[in-house]
Amino acid sequence: MYQRIALFIAVPMLLLTNCNTTKNSQPPRTPPMVILKLDDLWFEDGLVHPGWVQVVDFLNSLEIKGTIGIVGNSLEEGDSAYFNWIKERHAEGYEIWHHGFCHCRHKEEDIEIREYRGEDLAAQTTSLLKTQQLAEEKLGITLRSFGAPYNSTDEHTASALAEIPDLKVWMYKETDCSTDKFLLPRIAEVNIEYPVHQPDFEQFKAGYEQFKNEPILVIQGHPRSWVEEESRFEEFKRIILFLVEEEVTFVTPYGYYLRE
Ligand SMILES: [Zn+2]
Repeated sequence: MYQRIALFIAVPMLLLTNCNTTKNSQPPRTPPMVILKLDDLWFEDGLVHPGWVQVVDFLNSLEIKGTIGIVGNSLEEGDSAYFNWIKERHAEGYEIWHHGFCHCRHKEEDIEIREYRGEDLAAQTTSLLKTQQLAEEKLGITLRSFGAPYNSTDEHTASALAEIPDLKVWMYKETDCSTDKFLLPRIAEVNIEYPVHQPDFEQFKAGYEQFKNEPILVIQGHPRSWVEEESRFEEFKRIILFLVEEEVTFVTPYGYYLRE
């Protein structure tokens, strides 16, 4: 009987306590940081692809900084308008990052060789250095972060990257070879695209809810593919607007590395 009375008194007191003080409540959740890992900038038909232009316009309208994965050989072909477009993004705070030199793959006796998977060390080092040097020469930008085409690498890639101390960050490293680079891993469930090239807000949100307590989410997308169907870009916009509502902080790979 006494216990029942005690409970009867205790419950309203608890409620009162919860309403009037923050002492027993959960600390507010810190929203994660988010890197928009946007891949595949090429010089195409004498232009920056319209998919890139619309994504940058949208992000700029919200004062969000994205990142741009540049394919190095585009810097051999591009014109001054192309270089200036990239330099303007860099000045706005976008990170221009190393996304290979040729983004190419070919078959040798039924084995697929990719730019950084299956090539020897010398070829990988040469390819990495070419993009790094072209960015310095044509853009005046020192690239600081790397993400392989197709996210495909092997044991030589880590050794080749070790030859380039200016590159500090490696996104989506998928082997367990040791490296001196700062790693930004992939969380497969949290992506912009499901499957690749198809932004999907609902699937993104489900993955985000599962991993929102992570300190950093690196989410990948391909802006060139989002002009193919209007709905793709609309889904991307929904993802970004949701993240803004969640009050995440948008950061760049190198920016995140520097604050670590
Ligand atoms: Zn790519």
